[in-house]
Amino acid sequence: MQVRVDPARCQGNEVCTEVCPEVFVFDGEHAHVREGMEEVTEERRDRVEQAVMSCPEGAILLEN
Ligand code: SF4
Repeated sequence: MQVRVDPARCQGNEVCTEVCPEVFVFDGEHAHVREGMEEVTEERRDRVEQAVMSCPEGAILLEN
């Protein structure tokens, strides 16, 4: 499974970067998935899913 942020939906409130800073980084406008962290490994899965549920804009997308 892969994770990405939809920049059209992201409002930059940085909830995801607080919940899961090892995967999400803020660039001053939007959040992004850090390079090389797109694959949702088993060890990161819980925190990434927590970020998905925490995002008020539904901007974090999980794709197979
Ligand atoms: S929680 Fe959602 S809206 Fe907020 S910075 Fe992250 S992706 Fe963007």
